[in-house]
Amino acid sequence: MAKTVVIAGAGHAAGQAVASLKQHKFGGRIILVGDEPYLPYQRPPLSKRFLAGEMPAERLFVKPPSFYEDDRIEVHLDTRVTGIDRDTRTISTANGRSFDYDNLILATGSRARKLPVEGATLAGIHYLRSIADVDAIRAEVRDGRRLVIIGAGYIGLEVAAVCCKLGLDVTVVEMADRVMSRVVSEQVSAFYAAQHQVHGVKLRLSTGLREFAGSDGRVEAVVTADGLAIGCDFAIVGVGILPNVELAKNAGLEIDNGIVVNEHCVTSDPDIYAVGDCTSHPNAIYGRRIRLESVHNALEQAKTAADNICGVETRYDQVPWFWSDQYDLKLQIAGLSQGYDEVVLRGDMSRKSFACSYLANGVLLAVDAVNSPREFMQAKALIARRAVIDPTDLADPEKALKDLG
Ligand code: FAD
Repeated sequence: MAKTVVIAGAGHAAGQAVASLKQHKFGGRIILVGDEPYLPYQRPPLSKRFLAGEMPAERLFVKPPSFYEDDRIEVHLDTRVTGIDRDTRTISTANGRSFDYDNLILATGSRARKLPVEGATLAGIHYLRSIADVDAIRAEVRDGRRLVIIGAGYIGLEVAAVCCKLGLDVTVVEMADRVMSRVVSEQVSAFYAAQHQVHGVKLRLSTGLREFAGSDGRVEAVVTADGLAIGCDFAIVGVGILPNVELAKNAGLEIDNGIVVNEHCVTSDPDIYAVGDCTSHPNAIYGRRIRLESVHNALEQAKTAADNICGVETRYDQVPWFWSDQYDLKLQIAGLSQGYDEVVLRGDMSRKSFACSYLANGVLLAVDAVNSPREFMQAKALIARRAVIDPTDLADPEKALKDLG
């Protein structure tokens, strides 16, 4: 008898899961249940070209509506999955529906971490995770307005780059002593900080957020931990995400900084898969369990789950990678740099084209490539094979990366 696959969550990973199941000519039913009012869409442009008004909403969607017009596919939007009964293999939804499954794919993604400080509920304080969030932010964006961004991670800095180009007066407040401190080296942080300053963004580093101050229910200032009140017309908070694991947790699935899955994307219940931002998965290259917040991970895990559901045994075990667009800088990060003991610079920062490599005991862990797509591509292959590289060769742009290690 034909199987039924239910997908909980209708984001990027879910969209890919449907596409991959279709590619496999999966003959059963596919039921996609998502709590947003939209078909699966890509989030990266939300803090980049879509926020800048350079990309129409239709281009955000992973697949056009016609793709889902198929007798075997049922789409339920604006519908929250509230429970999983693993004994009867049924999910239930907030609007009183229930759906039986043979396989369930959890693709619940993550949500923006909220800051529970005084004044957090004032109007004019925004988070950036969804199309609805960007619609609300764009209604605030006007030449000359003052924006304070909390958090100098990728999203905060991408928004700063877009908004200063749109003529806003932008200040970024960051608790760490440098920008993007969680992901890049001091050199790369310093380079990006300088780029933002050249474009007129004010950086307030080494200070946290104490509270939001305002009147008549609307934010008027961001007050930092050291007591500085920075006047603003609106604020955007970008301080990381939390994986949406509650549904899985309440169903008794194993959780460890994400929904625990194996290399086939199977959870602690063999009938249930999990993919994307919500998972904690093994990575053989780094020899540990990781949780990633990246499109590549969402897409590849979704493909792996679909393969395995369709009887093609595949493993997900790839070099993680990410990107970030700020001004004329395309940052591509291959690998994870945690645990490095040496940083090697290759190329010329002043020309805005360089690669910064991270090594541990001579093994290449990760590379941050700025406007250097070739270095990025070649580094991925070296990282995958845990290449040991001579730092002097690595620093020499005359030597092709692919020939090292
Ligand atoms: P999501 O896309 O978050 O989708 C999960 C969906 O499930 C959501 O719609 C959610 O509302 C829904 N859901 C959750 N719980 C339930 C429930 N109980 N019932 C029904 N539905 C539910 N990554 C990069 O690699 N490069 C970038 O440049 C980049 N830029 C980004 C910029 C922004 C502004 C953001 C927000 C993210 C960015 N990312 C980037 C991260 C990337 O978008 C995510 O890693 C990716 O969206 C993860 O896909 P996902 O399907 O796992 O989760």
